[in-house]
Amino acid sequence: MATDYDSPRKTDDDLGEDSLQELQARRTDKSSGSIDIDETDLAESLELPGADLSNEELSLRVIPRQADEFTCSRCFLVHHRSQLASERNGKQVCRECAA
Ligand SMILES: [Zn+2]
Repeated sequence: MATDYDSPRKTDDDLGEDSLQELQARRTDKSSGSIDIDETDLAESLELPGADLSNEELSLRVIPRQADEFTCSRCFLVHHRSQLASERNGKQVCRECAA
């Protein structure tokens, strides 16, 4: 009976070791899959400059003309209407250029 007891125990241990090895192998696979986590981290870090770029694009789209702004016909810079020195034939000149 003792040998009968031992042999199933050994097989149980072997099975346990095998399953443990499989689990460890799967864990190492998952740990190697942590590269995906790193990629997501990179993507998250890339989202910040991407958001900044989108903001720049928005600001660039806004810059050309706003209701209270004008584009100087000499320096081609966008100024606030308070900086409008003169306007001749639709050509607007800022104070800096008119000075
Ligand atoms: Zn100007």
